[in-house]
Amino acid sequence: MKNLTLFWHRRDLRIHDNAGLFKALKQGKNVQPVFIFDTNILNKLPKNDQRVLFIYQTIKELSASYNKYGSSLWVFHGNPTQLIPELVKRHGVEKVFCNRDYEPAAIQRDKFIHEALQNLNCSFSGSKDQVIFEKDEVVKPDGNPYHVFTPYMRRWKEKLTDFYLKTYPVENYISNLNKGTELSIPDLEAFGFSDIQTQAFPPLRIPKSIIRDYHNTRDIPSLDGTSRLSVHLRFGTISIRELAKTARETNEKYFNELIWRDFYQMILFWYPKSMNHAFKAEYDRIEWEFDEVQFLAWCEGRTGYPLVDAGMRELNETGHMHNRIRMVVASFLCKHLLHDWRLGERYFAEKLLDFDLASNVGGWQWAAGSGVDAAPYFRIFNPTSQQEKFDPEFEYIKKWVPEFGTADYPKPIVEHKWARERVLERYKKALNTN
Ligand code: FAD
Repeated sequence: MKNLTLFWHRRDLRIHDNAGLFKALKQGKNVQPVFIFDTNILNKLPKNDQRVLFIYQTIKELSASYNKYGSSLWVFHGNPTQLIPELVKRHGVEKVFCNRDYEPAAIQRDKFIHEALQNLNCSFSGSKDQVIFEKDEVVKPDGNPYHVFTPYMRRWKEKLTDFYLKTYPVENYISNLNKGTELSIPDLEAFGFSDIQTQAFPPLRIPKSIIRDYHNTRDIPSLDGTSRLSVHLRFGTISIRELAKTARETNEKYFNELIWRDFYQMILFWYPKSMNHAFKAEYDRIEWEFDEVQFLAWCEGRTGYPLVDAGMRELNETGHMHNRIRMVVASFLCKHLLHDWRLGERYFAEKLLDFDLASNVGGWQWAAGSGVDAAPYFRIFNPTSQQEKFDPEFEYIKKWVPEFGTADYPKPIVEHKWARERVLERYKKALNTN
């Protein structure tokens, strides 16, 4: 029996410029790529979840690419903490490679697998692949993590050299892939996902002209002015190094957004509790309201504030929402309706195609005022002036709220001035400020 090395694909669903795959192939022969549909996650998702479909379509393409190299992708459906050690035992594997994931549940899972593999005399090694700088690579001179974005970004840029953006030439060692038997990909019905329609997802390409004009177009939701690469960054169908290289040469504003992504990944790594606790602890003292009718009106886009409603309908219909509007709807839920940011964060987590725990928690805590480098609590987005500024001709609104301006459109569920005063008072009470 030939000894296999496993490469386990997770948030890195590509061959090209894949750091962990490169390291696995470089060290020797018979590298067998593997992907596991994790039933711990799958079983919690609704049956028409578009992210599962995205992964499924991507896995099929990835598998076809491996076939072209005379190899194949082994695809399983199960619990990785059992499956990986089982594969190691069954095939006499001595090394398992992957790319690191910084979410608390993934870190736990990997720790468990690491220990199980140690008992089988098999190594388990992770590489940095989904960010440019991870963990403690960009920290303050005293070794502590930055809590404020601007000095973090400054240090991040100082540290960046071509070395960190270099491509991993996987193709040079591709002959080290295992030429083993092909396993068929279990179809989605086998996972209880049926009748899923094939969907057109945001295209996988680097849109150079959008990136070039980004500083002018990024805040206008009716324009095609952002890259729509978030889902590809989430699942690693694109290389962050390749994108960052283009961004560095093309547009600083866009480049900075990629640094926000690294920043939030770093924060989640250091502060895993921030996924469900206020980063600034005193914000957990806020007495939130809960009104099911109002919460549902927000979820369904029936608040009577057209920019909020357009955003929520875009989210519900497409799994995407423009960044400017994410800020507006998040602020509206936390500040106008005084609902706990965790409710909004969970709703986004269910709906967003690009859902990413670090950026989502980061975005929500920013809007609630409780996060690292958050908007000051007294900054309360006025949804009407946001509309006047960013959708003055109601183009975005009319696309998603066709009944806007007719008798069928609801009246505002909360009055702006009253809501503003209520939230200021409630926050002040919790934060003991006057
Ligand atoms: P572009 O504007 O083209 O930006 C390029 C890339 O930069 C994005 O794909 C993304 O990876 C990164 N980026 C841009 N803005 C941010 C940001 N503020 N924080 C972190 N990374 C950023 N982004 C997610 O990827 N997943 C989420 O779950 C998520 N939840 C959010 C929740 C709230 C309340 C807010 C305010 C923002 C959230 N964001 C999230 C950040 C941002 O809205 C999306 O990354 C962006 O809208 C995706 O569209 P795009 O790819 O066209 O972005």
